[in-house]
Amino acid sequence: MDKGYGTLYLVATPIGNLEDITYRAVRILSEADLVAAEDTRRTLKLLNHLQIKKPLISYHDNNRLSRADELVERLKNGENIALVSDAGMPAISDPGEELVSICIQEGIPVTVIPGCTAALSALVVSGLSTKRFAFEGFLPHRRNERIKRLKELSGEERTLIFYEAPHRIRSTLNDMLEVFGERQCALARELTKLHEEVLRGSLPELVSKLETEPPRGEFVIIVSGAVGGQKKEPFLMTQTGVEELVHHYQEQGLSRMEAMKQAAKDLGISKRDVYRSLNQ
Ligand code: SAM
Repeated sequence: MDKGYGTLYLVATPIGNLEDITYRAVRILSEADLVAAEDTRRTLKLLNHLQIKKPLISYHDNNRLSRADELVERLKNGENIALVSDAGMPAISDPGEELVSICIQEGIPVTVIPGCTAALSALVVSGLSTKRFAFEGFLPHRRNERIKRLKELSGEERTLIFYEAPHRIRSTLNDMLEVFGERQCALARELTKLHEEVLRGSLPELVSKLETEPPRGEFVIIVSGAVGGQKKEPFLMTQTGVEELVHHYQEQGLSRMEAMKQAAKDLGISKRDVYRSLNQ
C-alpha cells in the first residue's frame, strides 16, 4: 500500500572531474525537495555548477544519528531527499549506511542513482585481476590494529582494494610489504583529475618509489590477492625484495652499508635482519 512517503535517492557525484555526473543524477538533484550533503559548501559548488538551486541540509559523520530522525520525518511527510557525499558514492566510506537501514526498516523507498566510486575506478585501471575482489576501505589508523587487519587478510585470494590518506600511504605500504611480502600493487592517484596517475609494480618497488616522490593527492591502493590462499612468507624472508630496495639506494649513491641501513629503516626492521635476509 502506498503510504505517500517520499524516496531517499542515493546520488553518486564525481570523484574529481565534474563531467562525470550522470544525466539522471542532474535530474534527480533538480527534482528533489531537499539535498542532504556531507559538506553543504562543497555540494553547493556542485549545484551551482549544474545551475541547480535546492535547499541543502548537512548529513555528516558527526550529526548523522541525530539528523536521521529529521530526514526520516520529512521522507514520511512525502518529501523526496537526495543524499550525496563529498565525492563518489554515498555510503561507501562515507555517511549513508545507517540512514538507508533506518529507511528500509520504516518502509521508506530507497533507490540509487549510480555513478563514480573511486574503488572500482581504481580497480579497473590497476591491471590486477578484476574477477574477484574485496573492498576494505580505510585500514585502522593505529599501527598494531592495522597490522592485525592485514594479517587477517594475508590469505585472501581476491584482489584487495583500500582507501588511504596521502600522509599515511608510506607507512601503510610498508606495513603491507611486511605482512603480504612481494605482491603486485597499483596506486591510483587523483583519478579523473588533472594529475591522475597510476603507479604499478611490486610492493617493494612502490615503497622505494615513494621514498623519492612524496605522495600527494587522493589514493586508492590495489593489491593482488594471495596465490592459492597460501599466506605469504613475511617480507623479511623474501630475499629479492630486500635486495631490490638495497640496490635502489646503492644506485642513488649510498654505500652498501648505508643502503642496508636505509632499507632497514624503510621496512621497520633491524639492520641485522636485512643482512640476514640478504645472506640466506
Ligand atoms: N564515497 C567515495 C567513493 O565512492 O569512492 C569515497 C570517499 S572516502 C571518504 C575518500 C577516499 O576515496 C580517499 O581517501 C581516496 O582513498 C579515495 N578517493 C576519492 N577520490 C579519489 C580520486 N579522485 N582518486 C583516487 N582516490 C580517490
